[in-house]
Amino acid sequence: MTAPGTPSPAHASAGVGSSGEGSCLCGAIRYRFALPPLWVAHCHCTICRRAQGAGFVTWIGTNGEHFELIGGADRPCTYFSSPEATRSFCGRCGTPLFFESTRWPGELHITLGSVDPLLAAELQPQAHVHWLEHVPWIGAIHDGLPRHDSIGSS
Ligand SMILES: [Zn+2]
Ligand SMILES: [Zn+2]
Repeated sequence: MTAPGTPSPAHASAGVGSSGEGSCLCGAIRYRFALPPLWVAHCHCTICRRAQGAGFVTWIGTNGEHFELIGGADRPCTYFSSPEATRSFCGRCGTPLFFESTRWPGELHITLGSVDPLLAAELQPQAHVHWLEHVPWIGAIHDGLPRHDSIGSS
């Protein structure tokens, strides 16, 4: 869908109507999603921390209708982390990729760390959510972003 001579999505600004791509570590799963994202946020909930083995996880919210798997050899493995929510990851390399929940119908949440790096650098987080659950070992964060005890009200 990219015309000759136009920049690839990774180099385009995150404008309306464009798309971005990402992949797992081994490349078996590659995906495309609509830009701009609905939101970008750091999640400090205990489930994200455990699921990804990291101090916190940065997610982007996207429109699930405009999401597609492209070019990869595999489909993601899916795990129900609660009765209403699934987390998907690469079954070969284990990269955490997607989150879906009936709480956010129509949205697909994607780990910012799996988005292509040049694009990810443009997608600035807007808030910390589930801040009440953050761990002390991530140290002080002086980014000036709002911190919501649970999920932001936006
Ligand atoms: Zn992989
Ligand atoms: Zn979380």
